[in-house]
Amino acid sequence: MNLTDLQALEQRYLMHTYKRAPVEFVRGEGTVLWDAEGREYLDFLAGISVCSVGHCNPEVVEAVREQAGRLMHTSNLFYTEPMVRLAERLSTSSLGGRVFFANSGTEANECAIKIARKHAHSRGIEAPEIVSFANDFHGRTYGGLSATPALAANPDLGPMLPGFRSIPFDDPDALRKAVGSSTAAVLIEPIQGEAGVYPLRDETLLAAREACDASGALLILDEIQTGIGRTGSLWAYEQTPVRPDVITSAKALGGGMPIGACITTSAAGEVLKPGDHGSTFAAGPVACTAALAVLDIVDDPALLRGVRERGARLRNGLLGLEGVSEVRGRGLMLAAGLADGIDAAALGADLLERGLVVNAPRPDTLRLLPPLTVDPDQIDRAVAIAEAALLSYAAQ
Ligand code: PLP
Repeated sequence: MNLTDLQALEQRYLMHTYKRAPVEFVRGEGTVLWDAEGREYLDFLAGISVCSVGHCNPEVVEAVREQAGRLMHTSNLFYTEPMVRLAERLSTSSLGGRVFFANSGTEANECAIKIARKHAHSRGIEAPEIVSFANDFHGRTYGGLSATPALAANPDLGPMLPGFRSIPFDDPDALRKAVGSSTAAVLIEPIQGEAGVYPLRDETLLAAREACDASGALLILDEIQTGIGRTGSLWAYEQTPVRPDVITSAKALGGGMPIGACITTSAAGEVLKPGDHGSTFAAGPVACTAALAVLDIVDDPALLRGVRERGARLRNGLLGLEGVSEVRGRGLMLAAGLADGIDAAALGADLLERGLVVNAPRPDTLRLLPPLTVDPDQIDRAVAIAEAALLSYAAQ
């Protein structure tokens, strides 16, 4: 089957929810992808920050292969060792409380939203409210969607869940005003990813923490994109002055296997009781084994230092390019803001043809999320490809 055949079948049989780029990838290794014609690409998107330990990381592949050959699924009605070992590892590496496993990021956020609402009801709040920033992205199920103001505004998908409020991005005063006696939680991304990589200022995070403490609301940080080493620490909040009550994780956690997790402090971990939440697939041994292998690689000071160093190399390389007006982000979660008149989607398509995979979350922004294991010389090659594409763009 060639690409034209695939496109015809996709048009006929898949729902038209995605605009796919005209490439069929058939193999991956580390930071490199190969298409069906044998062409090589540098993958600086890593499956939208999923393949953080590189494509087909041998340790993750071996762990999955071994576990899949032994036991794939039992349900949450029984015990398996990978589930409890992973929960212990996630808890002790972060907030010290309990973990609920899910199969995706949006589901991890559903759990956090349930905790927030139940916690609020226990404080006598009848109509609890969850506060998020404009342009935050928290997922596609109705809870996550209702906390994603830009998408929740789509009238064709309404009605959204009640009890969600959005405030201007990175605005500590708006936050202080919005959080009050009916607030269940502040649910925010420490660095907005889908919006185009916009870090929150420490001042705003501190305002959120203080407002939550004063009102009794929970501070929930969505670390689905920022977590698992992406910013140069295991969790992005570690590089900020705040400690949240709940974090959510997914994406890179499974190294390519679908898994999400909602992780709490000791107190927030007491909120949900039997019957309050569940999932057939979640906490399955294959996904949990993959996540343990990922954490063995990522939860390592040397690797995390490398993320910060490689991030600085990529940032400096991009900043030196004609046509790049700013670089936003932290560690290896970076975005290049483009000079006026450069169309990020068109540039991204050209980069793909030149063998560099990135994406354009905004018309003026390219987002770069390479594997955390990317080689310095691959960073230099990616910057050189971007330079050539920008030069040819300018010459048009
Ligand atoms: N939250 C954030 C910050 C995300 O970046 C994403 C996905 O991009 C999600 C939630 C939703 O995750 P998923 O697509 O796994 O449901």
